[in-house]
Amino acid sequence: MWTIDAHTQLTGVLGYPVRHSLSPAMHNAALQSLGLNGVYLAFEVPPNALPNAIAGMRGLHIQGLNLTIPHKQAVIPLLDGTTDAAQQVGAVNTLFWDDDQLIGDNTDAEGFLRGLREAGVEPASQTVLILGAGGAARAVAYALHRQGCRLIIANRTPERAVSLSAAFQATPVEMAHDALRPLLSQVDGVVNCTSLGMSPDTASSPPMDWDALPDTAWACDLVYRPLHTRFLQAARARGLHTVDGLGMLIHQGALAFERWTGQPAPVAVMRNATERALGL
Ligand code: NAP
Repeated sequence: MWTIDAHTQLTGVLGYPVRHSLSPAMHNAALQSLGLNGVYLAFEVPPNALPNAIAGMRGLHIQGLNLTIPHKQAVIPLLDGTTDAAQQVGAVNTLFWDDDQLIGDNTDAEGFLRGLREAGVEPASQTVLILGAGGAARAVAYALHRQGCRLIIANRTPERAVSLSAAFQATPVEMAHDALRPLLSQVDGVVNCTSLGMSPDTASSPPMDWDALPDTAWACDLVYRPLHTRFLQAARARGLHTVDGLGMLIHQGALAFERWTGQPAPVAVMRNATERALGL
């Protein structure tokens, strides 16, 4: 039975806004299924309240926290240290204790890789086109760069593509049909890391000439609201192998769960709970 008592450990997510978050459903299902004495809550923390929230975590010795928009970078100066992944990505989505040190980690990068592999894609040494140069693109670029991938990065704002490319020895390119088309025949996989296609603007999609990709190419969309984006529908219509954004979401959560509890995450339980919360 699941009880809350004087031993219950608190975990949660800080964001602004945060009420749309799927993490409480995912983590509480995991805690319950393993019979762990813990609870995961969502805290709506405006940017100017972040220092107080982190001081509160320290004062209360809260077991662990996730961070989402807009706190992933702002939290870094408030911590005692960061993992290599968080440092390289330049963003923190998970806080955990290492003895009395409060450490920031980034589980988005490894979560993305696990999601990709779970869906049957092994990206090591491939040529991958990353669409977007925001926070998610940075985590994806870091993850794929470590797998020896050759990266091409396209973004609406070209300066951001140039700066992200410099960090991961990638080739920056304009996010436009004419600029992308000549490169597509050498691409093994493409990842949409823009917010194009995300609800409520579900009709939008990055510019892609799907026919120019090899028949063996794969396409991954990080957007998970909706799960079947226009981008993935077009890739499927072209006959390509597709990977939706749910795998990354679940695995970044599973990695945080493992950090905090020291137990293997019940990934299937987390997936079911997240799908239910998404109304699938
Ligand atoms: P972000 O840092 O705000 O970056 C947004 C990216 O989308 C930028 O590259 C931006 O280009 C581009 N973009 C936005 N509107 C555009 C438009 N109208 N036309 C062309 N490009 C546009 O956001 P993020 O955190 O990287 O998140 C990006 C997406 O990934 C979101 O949909 C998010 O939900 C999803 N995501 C999913 C997971 C998961 O677990 N599946 C994890 C993280 C994020 P500019 O640089 O030109 O503004």
